[in-house]
Amino acid sequence: MSDLRFKSVEEASSRKPIKVNIPAERVDKYYGSKVFNRQKMFEYLPKDTYEILVDAIDNKKPLSREVADSVADGMKRWAIDCGARHYTHWFHPLTDGTAEKHDAFIDHDGKGGVVEEFSGKLLVQQEPDASSFPNGGIRNTFEARGYSAWDISSPAFITDETLCIPTIFISYTGESLDYKTPLLKSLNAVDKAATKVAQFFDPEVKHVTCNLGWEQEYFLVDEALYAARPDLVMTGRTLMGHESAKNQQLEDHYFGAIPSRVEAFMLDLEIECHKLGIPAKTRHNEVAPNQFELAPIYEECNLANDHNLLLMSLIAEVARRHNFRVLLHEKPFAGINGSGKHNNWSLGTDKGVLLFAPGKTPDQNLQFITFVVNVMAAVHKHNALMKATIISATNQHRLGANEAPPAIISMFLGTQLSNILRQLEETDTETIEFEGKGKYSLELSQIPELSIDNTDRNRTSPFAFTGNRFEYRAVGSSANCAAALIALNSAVADQLNIFTDKVNEQISKGVDKKKAILTEVKKLITQSKAIHFDGNGYSDEWKIEAKQRGLDVENSAPLMYDAYQRPETVEMFARTGVYTKKELEARNEVKWEMYTKKIQIESRVLGDLAINHIIPAATRYQSLLLDNVFKIKQLFKGEKADTIARQDMASIEHIADHMASIRANVDLMLDARKKANKLDNQREKAIAYHDNVLPLMEKIRYSIDKLELMVDNEIWPLPKYRELLFIR
Ligand code: ADP
Ligand code: MG
Repeated sequence: MSDLRFKSVEEASSRKPIKVNIPAERVDKYYGSKVFNRQKMFEYLPKDTYEILVDAIDNKKPLSREVADSVADGMKRWAIDCGARHYTHWFHPLTDGTAEKHDAFIDHDGKGGVVEEFSGKLLVQQEPDASSFPNGGIRNTFEARGYSAWDISSPAFITDETLCIPTIFISYTGESLDYKTPLLKSLNAVDKAATKVAQFFDPEVKHVTCNLGWEQEYFLVDEALYAARPDLVMTGRTLMGHESAKNQQLEDHYFGAIPSRVEAFMLDLEIECHKLGIPAKTRHNEVAPNQFELAPIYEECNLANDHNLLLMSLIAEVARRHNFRVLLHEKPFAGINGSGKHNNWSLGTDKGVLLFAPGKTPDQNLQFITFVVNVMAAVHKHNALMKATIISATNQHRLGANEAPPAIISMFLGTQLSNILRQLEETDTETIEFEGKGKYSLELSQIPELSIDNTDRNRTSPFAFTGNRFEYRAVGSSANCAAALIALNSAVADQLNIFTDKVNEQISKGVDKKKAILTEVKKLITQSKAIHFDGNGYSDEWKIEAKQRGLDVENSAPLMYDAYQRPETVEMFARTGVYTKKELEARNEVKWEMYTKKIQIESRVLGDLAINHIIPAATRYQSLLLDNVFKIKQLFKGEKADTIARQDMASIEHIADHMASIRANVDLMLDARKKANKLDNQREKAIAYHDNVLPLMEKIRYSIDKLELMVDNEIWPLPKYRELLFIR
């Protein structure tokens, strides 16, 4: 059996970089070549159709069926010119990832043959048989219809000869069954709410856009080694494996030279991204061995999220061309860093002003402080919800572990911004003192020119201010960013609405506008300062302090999901029009169910590996040792034989103890699963898996990892960390 391990190691270490097909033209020529962007629309659509479509996209207007027919016709011609044969509605179901059902561009021609067909009706709306997508009981099987409907704000694109049309996915009764629908609603809510606040400062503002720049972290493993690890294949993470003697302690991987095989892969991936209009910009090694990152230039949130989802499928495909498998799991290897997906999030007006960036005039700076403080208030009020949005069966291994944000949401502001807020809160006088900048008269809102440096980085914070945006770092590498951003946008929208009402109330009483804003800002700083923490988020003291501050410190993933159903959450989502109570309940059912299923699969795979791979290997080694002891006792007599055999005997006993422990715990784990499976309630079941199954998995792993250190290297069946983790 260990043959497989050694063959895979040999195969992996003998590989050479794969040659990449670099396009002959310059990047600006092939950028977006697989996207039905405005240039293609202009080329393929009648002029009036083009104008109506662009107006509908820019101003969020509906399209008539006639126009849709005309768009469909142009889109089809473009797609077929590009070699596409199929089309699909592409949507984001509640599993992580995307779904698609391909149909060919054909229909009967009435004469026994076929014609190429794609109508506005097929473009705009479809009814995928959706009973097999998680829906939390919203659709029972006899009413299994779900609708997918075209999202005109995200352009269609072609992958693998298929025209993909980004769509939302909703139930027959109108509930959202995906991530895109509520994301679009939340973007709408934050646009409206932020526009009202921005209009206090500039009445000309008409829209506020939300921007997202994600940073995707991932691991690469050679495909031969991957195939020799059933745990990686089935669960995306190693369920066992002792730490390698060398891993990241020399800190030699981050920004280090990229191995040539990986460099070829990255180049290939970048070219594919650019063809699909994903503005991939940055690539580098991450902290852990074999860990890398890709980041694009930020884009409007909905488009950026589509691009991230597209990237997640693309990266797997391109990796395979290079004989790699990509691991998007948050914690594929114990003991080294896991992977996150920092969400760089900001709001900007249609007049080009970034609302979380300090400006040059006192007015702009009051606006900047106003928005920052409202975000602070929203994150403070909904910190438990924010955590619920990023937790999962996979991300739970990353949060709270040594490199990752703790399982507590706090906000990092940096020294300068913290000082400003402190002075705003504490000074009644109208003078604020800035470090090294002397005194400035406030004259109500005279906040002077600010230069906030963004070098003040605190990597331990789950939610950090970084100069002109916030970086939500707790998001997991395999997650759909929308899960986090739906809640963030909604909470911020709700808070901004409350703020606007309060300011308007004061204005109506005759208070000066800026004074009213400043008064509300000061109140918010005081009310929400518990969320502000610039210290070391990894420390134990912080956990104690956070609890004293009243922040949510819940550690159990299934219990974190409860935050979605708290009255304040339900009300906030209802006020912003993003989720109904029924949707929240249904979606939580799905979350608990997914949680259970993931742990269930892991637990089964672990049980199988432990009993059918590890115990037999350990037994074989144990019997070699026993054989040796037996022979020693035959050849040597008395005291001498005992001395010689003693060490082997000790090893035999150790191995026997660990094997006994593995067997006993596998039995207990099976029992725990059986008991949990009998529970009908999804929440209870997920809790049972978390409380009773997970800890046994850890115990089993502990013994297996100890055995790995004892058993003859030649006999050990699975590729070890040191073999998996170093690409040559
Ligand atoms: P880091 O040092 O954290 O890796 P980068 O400078 O590489 O940061 O930027 C990370 C991401 O943040 C990129 O996708 C970038 O486009 C994005 N970003 C920069 N400014 C903004 C902004 N104002 N709003 C949203 N995203 C932004
Ligand atoms: Mg970052």
